[in-house]
Amino acid sequence: MSKERIGFIGLGMMGLPMARNLIEGGYQVTVFDLDEESMGKAHESGASTSVSASETASKSDIVITMVPDSQHVEAAITGPAGIIEGVKKGSVVIDMSTIDPEIGKKMAGLLEGKGVNFIDAPVTGGVGGAEAGTLSILVGGNAEIFERTLPVLNVLGGDVSHMGPVGSGHTTKIANQLIGVATLAGMAEAFVLAKKSGLDMQTFFDAVKNGAGRSWALETLGPKILAGDFEPGFMVKHMQKDLRLANQLADDTGTSLPTSTLIAQLYRSIQAESPESTSQGHQALVQAIEKLSNDQARL
Ligand code: NAD
Repeated sequence: MSKERIGFIGLGMMGLPMARNLIEGGYQVTVFDLDEESMGKAHESGASTSVSASETASKSDIVITMVPDSQHVEAAITGPAGIIEGVKKGSVVIDMSTIDPEIGKKMAGLLEGKGVNFIDAPVTGGVGGAEAGTLSILVGGNAEIFERTLPVLNVLGGDVSHMGPVGSGHTTKIANQLIGVATLAGMAEAFVLAKKSGLDMQTFFDAVKNGAGRSWALETLGPKILAGDFEPGFMVKHMQKDLRLANQLADDTGTSLPTSTLIAQLYRSIQAESPESTSQGHQALVQAIEKLSNDQARL
């Protein structure tokens, strides 16, 4: 059986390497992004470009969205020249962005009216995971559609988990973010404390990196902080969005989130610095702790 044709919408930090992996995996990929430069890069990698999400959808059996937030997913699917205008009956739309689960459910309902299936399949594992095709993928949706999309998702990820009905992938991802951000916050405090206490920072990092504090944040973001590298893999503004989504879910479910609420305020202080500061990598959280302690955790 020939491979399903893929449409890929949103070619940012994550989307571009993911689309490239699909091309390398032998899929025919048509792309769309509002940013011309990203489209050019995808084209150089072997993707066909299109002028709209609608055109992308019309040339695809499976359409993936990987855009920043709920409003961008809505624009790509139901906005002018959106997916819903071009998509064929029997196709599948997969949203891999991290967004409000309720918007995912709304999109599912609207697409269902056109005989199109929707699943949510957000990811975790960072840009490194996107490039290596080792993302953890958290899927919400009908089991049959999950099975149909599995060959495609297996190209993009290492672990692909079916979490339940539509919305449960997004919900899982939002909960996951609280683990990651609290780990980062603990690490940021530990680094500043070690620095202020006069420890050698490289020796400190090497000594603790394989102990009980071991984590993705420590391994991946720790060296960046020590080097003063705040280039984005995952931008501050996207982490702020995820903390907002978590807060909304907590409101709906009556859940207390004292730690992540405090971390959201620390990010707010980064945001207050300048409009550009939220385009830094989310490891910039350390800057808030550094400011409070009047020192920098650098080598
Ligand atoms: P990004 O800002 O780098 O890229 C988003 C892309 O979407 C941009 O190229 C933008 O031009 C495009 N876009 C926006 N609206 C569009 C529209 N209507 N039609 C077409 N293109 C549109 O973001 P990213 O870091 O790639 O993240 C994408 C999603 O993945 C977010 O929801 C984020 O939370 C999630 N995520 C990111 C990471 C990471 O490490 N960067 C990891 C896991 C999940």
